[in-house]
Amino acid sequence: MADEQLIQLLRQLVAIPSVNPALADDPAIGSEAPLARFLADYLAGKGFSIERHEIVPGRPNVVARRGPAAPKRTLLVEAHLDTQGIHGMTVPPFGGELRDGRIYGRGACDMKGPMAAALHALTPDILDALAAAGVQLIFVGAVGEEKGNVGARQLVELGLGADEALILEPTELAIVHAHKGTLWYEVELKGQAAHGSNPQHGLSAVRAMVEVIGDIEREAERAREQRDHPLLGPPTVNIGVIRGGSSINIVPDRCVIEVDRRTVPGEDHRDILDRIRVGLMRLQSLKKIAGYEVKKLHDGTPFATPADTRLVQRLVGACRSQGVPAKTEGAGWFSDAGPFSQTCREVAVFGPGSIRQAHTADEYIEVASLQKGSELLHQFFRDLADEVKGIA
Ligand SMILES: [Zn+2]
Repeated sequence: MADEQLIQLLRQLVAIPSVNPALADDPAIGSEAPLARFLADYLAGKGFSIERHEIVPGRPNVVARRGPAAPKRTLLVEAHLDTQGIHGMTVPPFGGELRDGRIYGRGACDMKGPMAAALHALTPDILDALAAAGVQLIFVGAVGEEKGNVGARQLVELGLGADEALILEPTELAIVHAHKGTLWYEVELKGQAAHGSNPQHGLSAVRAMVEVIGDIEREAERAREQRDHPLLGPPTVNIGVIRGGSSINIVPDRCVIEVDRRTVPGEDHRDILDRIRVGLMRLQSLKKIAGYEVKKLHDGTPFATPADTRLVQRLVGACRSQGVPAKTEGAGWFSDAGPFSQTCREVAVFGPGSIRQAHTADEYIEVASLQKGSELLHQFFRDLADEVKGIA
């Protein structure tokens, strides 16, 4: 039997537009602030103390705490507030329509479904049990996940961390305890134009870029040999874009590439770029180019929490006791788990709904999945309280 309160909560969340401002044509729907307000009020009503961190004006992150000030354990539960845009949607984006055992609307699956499941799981008796056991619960609503994880980054920079972090995302109830990092960058080479009949009078940026690409591939090849991650596989590189030259008979004075480097835990994104810069400096000192620029386009940290940690094992236990096969896995996509892995010792991504249904024209979540997810999280919180209660 589906829980009416849970369904109503999700429909309420879907009805509050919170499109990422960068993805909204209409500013009236492109703000996380109304959902942040709802979340803050909801949690305040459950006895949480609320902080708002509005680092970008109009885009408040919500940090809500409940439990002892000197806790035995801290658990951070994070839900991002923003959704994808609504362009081309075939269902009313904010209707929260309930039909054929599904709830439809933008965010129903990513991320309001998992958020509703977690909020609903935090019943008064669970909240009191956690506090009495000595657990401080930190519920975070973060802005801007869909575009650069800005909210999570801001909070990590402020030092917000915990012993354990549960990042809510629609994983189909799989326990994702590792994902690759993403380093996207652009390299621009400046050459010197000359007539194509006298190439010796110019510096070809395209020709020099061939050497740069060689350096980039060798760097990734070395990384592949050194680090084959048991869960994520080896690091990769793809040069997705190249632009250069203007005419067949002119020595090109400019060439640009865009590089997509996927990293595994242990790789430092700054080191990777530094190694590329060494090659560029060499090209310049050899007077093969007139100048260069390296620009970071996206920087997402990889993370991996071992499968035998308390957090992952407690999720496994909760799945089993609720009759759900416990799947532990690594993921190819990126989430707020990346930034929070810098300040939280154990991190896992988990939630009801399927990532295949996120960002779609008829986004929905199955009520059965929503319900199961909430029961599972309820069990997880209960097990945490029992575990910490036993600690002196
Ligand atoms: Zn999401």
